[in-house]
Amino acid sequence: MLDHHPENNSDINEIYKKLEAELASIDPGCVACGTCCSFDEFDHVLYASTIETDYIRKNVEVPSFDPDKNICPFLINSQCSIREHRTLGCRVFFCNPDYKEKAQDIYNKYYTMIKDLADNNGVEWLYAPMLKQLKNV
Ligand code: SF4
Ligand code: SF4
Repeated sequence: MLDHHPENNSDINEIYKKLEAELASIDPGCVACGTCCSFDEFDHVLYASTIETDYIRKNVEVPSFDPDKNICPFLINSQCSIREHRTLGCRVFFCNPDYKEKAQDIYNKYYTMIKDLADNNGVEWLYAPMLKQLKNV
């Protein structure tokens, strides 16, 4: 369990809240089916920052998982089991191609906010595949 920076907990929460409010105005038609959390199926990689994976670890237990399967360990019965704590990358990914450009702009904005938070709190910035971050405890 990593808990180097408990003071960041509310700050990152605030950033996620703002992000959710902004995303709500987009309404890309995500039905939360969880398919995109099977990374091979979507042929994509979910990246996350250390400050975000620390936040997840602080709030939930990470189930043991096999990284070779390339499925998020928090996907349970095709649903995200940590929606309150999921990462920026989880939140801004939409399979609907019509939202790709808009989502990218929002992603860039909040990526910068999260990086600033890490910098301001002296948290080393590492942005790497989430499964790798979760294994590197
Ligand atoms: S973005 Fe698409 S694939 Fe992912 S949960 Fe939403 S509807 Fe399902
Ligand atoms: S944390 Fe949740 S939304 Fe993100 S990849 Fe895992 S199951 Fe999907």
